Amino acid sequence: MNEHDSERIAGLLEQDGLEPTDDEAKADVIVINTCCIRENADKKLYGTLGTMKTWRDADPNRQIVVAGCLAQKDRELVRQRAPWVDVVLGTHNVHRTTELLNQARTTGAITEILDEAIVDDYALFPSALPVRRETSYRSWVTIQIGCDNTCAYCIVPAVRGREISRPFDNILDEVSALAASGVTEIFLLGQNVNSYGRDLSLASRRAGDESVRVAPQFAALLRAVGAIPGVQRVRYMSPHPKDMREDTLLAMHETTSVCEHLHYPLQAGSDTVLAAMHRGYTVQRYLDRLVEARRTIADLAVTTDLIVGFPGETEADFVQTMEVAATAEFDSAYLFIFSPREGTAAAAMTDKFCDPGVMSERYNRLKVVLDHSAVLKHRARIGRIEEVVVEGSSRKNPDHLTGRTRQNKLVHFPSPEKLRVGTYARVEIIDAARFHLAGRLLEVTALPTHRTRLAVTSA
Ligand code: SF4
Repeated sequence: MNEHDSERIAGLLEQDGLEPTDDEAKADVIVINTCCIRENADKKLYGTLGTMKTWRDADPNRQIVVAGCLAQKDRELVRQRAPWVDVVLGTHNVHRTTELLNQARTTGAITEILDEAIVDDYALFPSALPVRRETSYRSWVTIQIGCDNTCAYCIVPAVRGREISRPFDNILDEVSALAASGVTEIFLLGQNVNSYGRDLSLASRRAGDESVRVAPQFAALLRAVGAIPGVQRVRYMSPHPKDMREDTLLAMHETTSVCEHLHYPLQAGSDTVLAAMHRGYTVQRYLDRLVEARRTIADLAVTTDLIVGFPGETEADFVQTMEVAATAEFDSAYLFIFSPREGTAAAAMTDKFCDPGVMSERYNRLKVVLDHSAVLKHRARIGRIEEVVVEGSSRKNPDHLTGRTRQNKLVHFPSPEKLRVGTYARVEIIDAARFHLAGRLLEVTALPTHRTRLAVTSA
């Protein structure tokens, strides 16, 4: 979500006449679009702002913007610790970036944070805003903002607000326009996509329209997006295990363009810890749904998020997490060490905080389990023929290309010619490592048709 906001800010600046540059010395404006999900971001921000003071002071025309959810959370703190910042804005007024920059030139530093999403929030009706996409063939599409859950460790509801779904037809209009411009892969974004539409249905029923189904509409959305001509791949992130339903799995199975990849955040493998986290599901329910997902969708890759060291986590709880992770056989996982986010329920559990040394030891132990499973999953693909979309040259070997499979796995392969980003090809998998596969190009199946140029810089 944060990266998608960066694309919008970059699009707005570009529309205002600015050009992207990788060279700080040539820049007139630097935007730091923050994310406060993890503690490290705070430390990094203030360190970076400290070093940027010299850059800002060297030319009175230079401006600095701090945007994003850390700015939303720490609005006054950013101003106090870095008074040389020109504009501080939050998650609900990204659309105001250029106006605030121009205003700050005459009035001096500005802080503008909205506490709630406005009705015509840019994220709900984003077509009104320009976007400078990082990738030419793939586009993020916001379907929902905010979150109504209360996960004890999570700052998102505080900085992104209540859950608001974007109107169904509005999403389809954007996807149709993207597909018409040559985008072939759509990535649907929301904090809890399975509950997409719940607020829309309830609002309609409150208004007296009983014909509107209260049942979640995410499955219908997946089918509708996947059926738009030109859309070849559909992905989404993130579903919440407590809201994962059979109709979503069926929609994934029956909609050819929906990729065989499910990001399914477990967070912990102990019922005690899950309850303390307020996650709303048990391990058994999670695993049952996982079995059903794999049974419904052939060749499904499953990735997850896990937190070690949640307050009160005992060694026995942690061992259960390792066992569940081994049972689940994830393709890969984002593994985090718990860090308290001010204002969350977990941050107040100070008497139950785990020892930092214990947390990092648990991190390393769980990583062994996850790495083992990832390598096995990758090795199982050797000998298979995969459809990949070319993402560009391999970073390690410029003679190789890098592509991504439908299961979201990276594949590096040599190519006699430099295929354009967005090209579809068939590749035989010949080797596997923890983070990538190695392949042999068999044939190009479709050339990119996108008319937008490839963006190279994020804000
Ligand atoms: S579902 Fe939980 S973890 Fe995800 S955004 Fe909402 S509160 Fe945070």
